Amino acid sequence: MTQNAYDIAIVGAGMVGAAIACGLGPTGLRIAILDRTPPPPFDANQAPDIRVSALSYASEQILRNLGAWQFISAMRTCPYQRMGVTEKLNTPLTFAGSPLNQTLFDSTDIGYPYLGQIVENNVTQLGLHQAMAQYKNIDILCPSDITSIDFDASLPTIFFGQDDPSDKTTQLTAKLIIGADGALSKVRDWASIGINSNQYEQQALVATVEYQGTQQDITWQAFTSTGPLAFLPLMDVNEKHYGSLVWYDLPDKIRQLMAQDDDTFIGEVT
Ligand SMILES: Cc1cc2nc3c(=O)[nH]c(=O)nc-3n(C[C@H](O)[C@H](O)[C@H](O)COP(=O)(O)OP(=O)(O)OC[C@H]3O[C@@H](n4cnc5c(N)ncnc54)[C@H](O)[C@@H]3O)c2cc1C
Repeated sequence: MTQNAYDIAIVGAGMVGAAIACGLGPTGLRIAILDRTPPPPFDANQAPDIRVSALSYASEQILRNLGAWQFISAMRTCPYQRMGVTEKLNTPLTFAGSPLNQTLFDSTDIGYPYLGQIVENNVTQLGLHQAMAQYKNIDILCPSDITSIDFDASLPTIFFGQDDPSDKTTQLTAKLIIGADGALSKVRDWASIGINSNQYEQQALVATVEYQGTQQDITWQAFTSTGPLAFLPLMDVNEKHYGSLVWYDLPDKIRQLMAQDDDTFIGEVT
């Protein structure tokens, strides 16, 4: 086996690619993982990043088994104990004083400390990178910009960095190539794998909101006739409280919100 011959090459070291690498690490197979950019370093003083995910308790266990959770929790996460879901139908019906169209899930009802944790995608990715760096059989080739893949060669060959086919330092072969290069995957295109896609009637606006009061332990989701609104608590940074607002609505409404000045937009959010 030459230096550039791998059992598995993973294109894309985002949350998905890095998680796959961590899962494959214990097999001892020779693995290369490539990405054009490394995850940004963690800065505890920075306000929460705009891209966050609600990781359920079960997802946390997966990340724990992959060896990444210890690194993620050493950076920052925000547990949520409750989840409130409301259907905004303006119905006057109530039962025992509560609107019929409202449900509250509470982790104490099932004996768990929390339902899940809100984690910045960058933090999840960085924790997975720290976990996979522990495997000697994984080569992290980052930064590497994949420019093409030759599926007709005797072994599939990935070219990265430049297009010169005689430059062996910027190519590798793999028995299996995993395309984890995101929604607009080039690997999918090069492998001639088609997709069917539909445009939703809604678009989404995502905003990080700083709020006053006390740190929240509840995620809110309100389903309206034009799309859901979600408000997720985020981690405190330097004693400031943050939340992630996800506002789905008709494309015209989202365009209108985006065009507003800050004061008008904050008024709408409030
Ligand atoms: C606003 C928003 C909200 C979302 N909310 C949720 C949610 O609540 N829950 C949920 O489950 N999902 C959510 N998602 C989706 C979720 O973020 C994605 O599914 C997830 O990030 C995909 O991860 P990934 O690793 O597959 O891709 P990505 O994070 O896109 O990573 C792909 C990686 O491949 C690399 N790459 C791409 N092309 C090349 C190339 N040619 N050469 C080298 N490297 C390359 C990129 O640099 C990148 O690091 C949301 C997405 C958005 C945009």
